[in-house]
Amino acid sequence: MSRQKFQENLILLNYEMLTKLSPKSKEYFYEMLSENVKTVFDFAFSGIYLYDKWTNCYKLVSSSKEPYILMDYIQDHNSRPASINSTVTIPIEKNIIFHEMQQDIDLVTIPFYPKDGPFGMVVCGYDPKQKSIADEIYLVIKEEIEKLLTITYPLFLSAASEQKHQLLYEMTTKFLVLTNKTDILIEIISSIRSIYPDFGVNLLLAQDHDDTLDLPIRTIKLSDQSISSQAFLNGEVLIENRIKEKDTCIYAPLKGHQGVYGVLQIIAPTIFGVQDEDILFITKFSNTAGLAIESTTLYQNSNHLVSDLRLINDLTHKLNSHLDLIEITKLVRNQISQICHPEEIGFIYNMQENNIHHYDVVDGSTDFFETLPGHGFIRDSVNEVLKRKEAIFAGDYKSTGGKGPYRSVMVLPMENAGSINGFVVVLHREAYAFTFDHFKLLQSIIHHSTLAFVNTILAEKLKKAASTDYLTQLYSRNYLDEKIMQHMEKGAMGTLILFDIDDFKQVNDKFGHYVGDEVIKQVADIIMQNIEEQDIAARWGGEELAIYLPSTDLNSGVQLARIINTEVENFTEPNVTLSAGVSTWTSEVDDTARNFFIRADKALYEAKSYGKNCVVKYSINEQVTEN
Ligand code: GH3
Ligand code: MG
Ligand code: MG
Repeated sequence: MSRQKFQENLILLNYEMLTKLSPKSKEYFYEMLSENVKTVFDFAFSGIYLYDKWTNCYKLVSSSKEPYILMDYIQDHNSRPASINSTVTIPIEKNIIFHEMQQDIDLVTIPFYPKDGPFGMVVCGYDPKQKSIADEIYLVIKEEIEKLLTITYPLFLSAASEQKHQLLYEMTTKFLVLTNKTDILIEIISSIRSIYPDFGVNLLLAQDHDDTLDLPIRTIKLSDQSISSQAFLNGEVLIENRIKEKDTCIYAPLKGHQGVYGVLQIIAPTIFGVQDEDILFITKFSNTAGLAIESTTLYQNSNHLVSDLRLINDLTHKLNSHLDLIEITKLVRNQISQICHPEEIGFIYNMQENNIHHYDVVDGSTDFFETLPGHGFIRDSVNEVLKRKEAIFAGDYKSTGGKGPYRSVMVLPMENAGSINGFVVVLHREAYAFTFDHFKLLQSIIHHSTLAFVNTILAEKLKKAASTDYLTQLYSRNYLDEKIMQHMEKGAMGTLILFDIDDFKQVNDKFGHYVGDEVIKQVADIIMQNIEEQDIAARWGGEELAIYLPSTDLNSGVQLARIINTEVENFTEPNVTLSAGVSTWTSEVDDTARNFFIRADKALYEAKSYGKNCVVKYSINEQVTEN
C-alpha cells in the first residue's frame, strides 16, 4: 500500500470516529484512535501514551493492555522505574524508534507533539517477519494524530474545565451541609486528591486543630519568611519551584470574608511552569474552602456564645435571688470549677476602711488562700494587677517571674462603678491548663456577679452597723435583746450582768462630755478583754453596759462582774468605779426575758443603794443579796 493510501484509510476511520465522539469521552477517543492505527497498519497491537507534565511520565490512555510490554523493555533500557504500572518515565523523544525485542513481536514508538495539545507517543507491536511497510509511512501516523489532537484539544480542555467547575459546585454543596470543621477539612483534602491524584497536599492552618486525626494538617508558622507565610499574610496564591526537592509547591490562601484561615499547599512532584488555568482553579477552590472554614468557625463560635450566654443568664438569675455572701461565693465557685477545673479558687475582697485597703479572703475560697504562701501569693498578684491595671492570664506564670507552684494563673479584678472591689484568683499547677476562652468567660461571669458581691457585702456591713454601738463597738441593746430572747427559747440557762458607771454625771461635769465618752470606751474595752467568744457584750444605754453569758450560772457571772469591777477601779483614767447587777434564768423555771431583765436591773439598783462599786446578784428564787 502506498503512503497516500494508508493516510486516506486512517483519515476515513478517524473521521468516522469523530462523528461518534461526545465531548466528554476522552477515553473513548484515545481508545478508538489506537484501534484505528492498529487496523489501518495491521499491527499486532497499538496503544497511546500521553506525556504528563505534572508527573513527568508517559501515561497509557488507551485501554489496550498489550503495550505493557513496552514498559518492561523501556525499564530495562533506561533503568528508571515507572511510577505506576501504566506509566513510563523516559526522556521526551522526538524520533520514531524501533525497538528490537528479540521476541515474536518488535515495537515501534512514534512520538507526536502537536502545536496545540498534549505530547505523547503511539506504541505499536508488529511481527518482525511481516514488516512490510516503509519507515516513512510511520510518519503518516504522527502527522494524522497531531492534526487530530489540534482539533480535539480545545474540546477536551473545555470539558476538563467543566469537570473542575462541576467539582467546585459539588464541593460547595457539600460544604453547605457540613457544620463540623474537621469534616470540612477532610472534604478539602479529599477533593484536591481527587483532582490531582499524584500530588501531595497539606493544610497549613492558623487556628488550633484536632491533631489526633491522621490528616495532613499542620499549624502555619508565621514567624519565618517562608512562602507559605507570605501567601497567608498577603492573601495571594504563590508558586515555589524547589530545586533541591525537585518539585513545585503551590500555596493558596484559604480566604473567607473576614480573614485568612490558613494555606493550602499542593506539591507537584516535578518542576514546571504552572498554567494560568490551574492557578485560576486553585484560587477558586481555596476561596471556597476558606469560606467554608469561616462559616463553620463562626457557627461553632456562635454555638459557644449561645451556651455562654445561657450560663451567664442562669447565673444572674440565681444571683438575683437574695443570696448571702457565702451562697454567692459558693455559686460562682461552682460555676468556675465547672468551666475550667482549677485546683484553687480564691475570692479576695477589698475591705476599704478609712481609706486603708486590706484584702480579706472570703469564706468559700479554697484552703491555699488561708496559708502563708497563699497570703504571699495574693499580695504579689494583687499588686501586679493594680500596677498593670489589667487582669493576669498566664499559661506559665513562673516564666513571667511569678512565685509558687502554680503555673496556670488567672487573677481577675472585680470591678464596679470604676473601682476595684476585689479579685478572683484561679490556679492550676499544670502549665497552660486554662484557655483564652476560659479567661474570657470568667471575665464575663465576674463582671455579672461583682454587683451581687458588692451589694451583699454592703448589706452585711449595714446589718452589722445596725447591731453595733458606734461609740464602744459593743453590740447594740436591740441585738442583745434579740439574742437573749432567742437563747431563752432553746438554751438551758444564761446570766446577765448590768453595769452602771458610778457618779458619771460628775465625770462629765469635771472633765467634759468628750472625756466622759473616752471613759465609757475604756470600760467597754476592759469588758471585751474579759469575756469569751460566746459571750455578748452590749451597750445597754448611756453609761450602762451589759454582758450576757449563755449557758453560765449566776455565781460565775458574779465572779466575772467582780473581776471587771476591780479592773475598772484600777485601770480607768480618769478613775471610775462600776456597780453591777447580776441575774440568771434556767429552763427549769417558768420565766420571761422581761422578768430576767427586771431582776438584773433591780440587783443593780440594790448595788447602788449599798454604796456603789459592788456586785449584787438576784437569783430567781432568792431575794436580792449584796456581795
Ligand atoms: P449613779 O452613780 O447613780 O449612776 O450616778 P450617775 O451620775 O452616773 O447618774 P446616772 O446614772 O443617773 O446618770 C448618767 C449620766 O451619764 C447622765 C448623762 O449625762 C451621762 N451620760 C449618759 N450617756 C452618756 C454618754 O454617752 N456620754 C457621756 N459623756 N455622758 C453620758
Ligand atoms: Mg445610769
Ligand atoms: Mg451612773
